[in-house]
Amino acid sequence: MSEAATLDRAGARPSVEHFDVLIVGAGISGVGGAYHLATQCPDKSYVVLEVQEKFGGTWWTHKYPGIRSDSDLHTFGYRFKPWTSAPIATAEEILTYMNEVIEENGLAQHIRYKHKITNASWSSKTNRWTIEARKTDTGETAFFTCNFLWMCQGYYRHEKGYTPEWPGMSDYKGRIVHPQTWPEDLDYKGKTVLVIGSGATAATVVPAMAADCKHITMLQRSPTYFRTGRNAIQLAEELRELQVSEEWIHEIVRRKILFEQDKFTQRCFSEPDKVKQELLGLVKKELPEDYPIDQHFTPSYRPWRQRIAFVPDADLFKGIASGKASVVTDEIERFVEKGVQLKSGKVLEADIILTATGFNLCVLGDIDFTVDEKPLQFHDTVTYRGMMFTGVPNMVWVFGYFRASWTLRADLVGDFVCRLLKHMDAKAAKKVEVALRPEDKDMPLLDWIDTENFNPGYMLRGMHLLPKRGNKPEWMHNQDYWAEKDEFPAIDLDDAAFIYH
Ligand SMILES: Cc1cc2nc3c(=O)[nH]c(=O)nc-3n(C[C@H](O)[C@H](O)[C@H](O)COP(=O)(O)OP(=O)(O)OC[C@H]3O[C@@H](n4cnc5c(N)ncnc54)[C@H](O)[C@@H]3O)c2cc1C
Repeated sequence: MSEAATLDRAGARPSVEHFDVLIVGAGISGVGGAYHLATQCPDKSYVVLEVQEKFGGTWWTHKYPGIRSDSDLHTFGYRFKPWTSAPIATAEEILTYMNEVIEENGLAQHIRYKHKITNASWSSKTNRWTIEARKTDTGETAFFTCNFLWMCQGYYRHEKGYTPEWPGMSDYKGRIVHPQTWPEDLDYKGKTVLVIGSGATAATVVPAMAADCKHITMLQRSPTYFRTGRNAIQLAEELRELQVSEEWIHEIVRRKILFEQDKFTQRCFSEPDKVKQELLGLVKKELPEDYPIDQHFTPSYRPWRQRIAFVPDADLFKGIASGKASVVTDEIERFVEKGVQLKSGKVLEADIILTATGFNLCVLGDIDFTVDEKPLQFHDTVTYRGMMFTGVPNMVWVFGYFRASWTLRADLVGDFVCRLLKHMDAKAAKKVEVALRPEDKDMPLLDWIDTENFNPGYMLRGMHLLPKRGNKPEWMHNQDYWAEKDEFPAIDLDDAAFIYH
């Protein structure tokens, strides 16, 4: 649906394509958004723009050994597409699953790869967004307009992971690699490897590499919680034996997992010490009796402040018990020629150092936004339930769950967007934005996420860039699936917080 373009900056008349909805990103959220739109609003034209050469987002970007989910795929998978394999999945399995969603629903023709969106500007004169995207293969700029912008760009910068600056890094003669940008030529066979960090990535990469390395050490500043268990769901296996359909198994297993997660999360608040002991018990079971669990696997914070990585079949701990992998809890003083020197004075030598040190938070996909020619400062906005933002018309951002699977929220937001689009059509409205109501005038404005509740490093580093939240349900971003699953479908779209034109 092309339409005549306005003059571009050089005075030429570029071609501009118009769509009802433009989805940013073809990760699990963007592909899910395309599905919801195609099925719930089949009359809407839409396009998905993705900078990479393939769909998948996180699961396409990360290529380190062993890359896998840390939550189960019954809930990380979409509500509408049964997951039929083991619950913890490799990136390859997730990409295959997403490919099936794309193929089965005819979504491929709507996705344009190698399009890096650089600018988005809203005009209240035309009630449209104008989007500029650089084609990464030709360097050309493509122009689009859309009525509604569906931001599925995730939350971190895909090009480059976060590596802190340590003194002496240039003295180190080995190779430093961030797992997010895994070099295809990295040969670690028979080498000594040091992994800095102990989050989900480290917990995955250490057992995956242990067998081939001479030795692999996980260096952590402080311990992390892990859960261990079999990579299987007994109920799913039993239902499969009874030849129950995969649709039913998916739904039943999702409900069971969500019910148990809810109980577990509540217990983390009501009896954190007991939960802590249970988690430590799982780890103790896998390690030699004299292993210093207190030093290496007993965090000082209460469970669930950071995502708890699931270690399928306890492979990390088996690697440690076998002697091929080890853990050091200490701080880096500086890098030296052969490795790192720790605050304790000890030097850890390594041929390769992996910095599993996290992400760079990326707010709004590094896109320059303007609203009626004024640059948008995202941190000056207040969020409506963590998905819309004051002063930003016709735009929703999918920011999923951290405690529960991300995709649970992507599905809920998908339903919300489709309902909102239909509501706008019914009202013949061209523009919707959220605004604080008179009764919200004195509401205290808080950080995007309650750090008492959840405090990963990338969030703390980037909090000042993120929108504010209030202390009333409408203006909160509570990361609570069990509340939002009932609240989102019940949102009154005619509430005074929604302004239509
Ligand atoms: C290694 C790893 C494992 C994880 N495991 C889990 C898990 O098990 N369970 C869980 O719930 N969560 C997990 N997460 C969190 C995970 O990122 C999300 O769950 C989910 O994959 C995010 O999906 P998304 O589509 O919203 O964003 P992303 O996967 O980040 O995809 C966003 C897409 O948007 C594209 N994009 C961004 N900006 C632009 C732009 N300007 N122009 C064009 N395209 C753009 C990106 O290239 C990317 O393809 C994990 C994260 C990592 C890094």
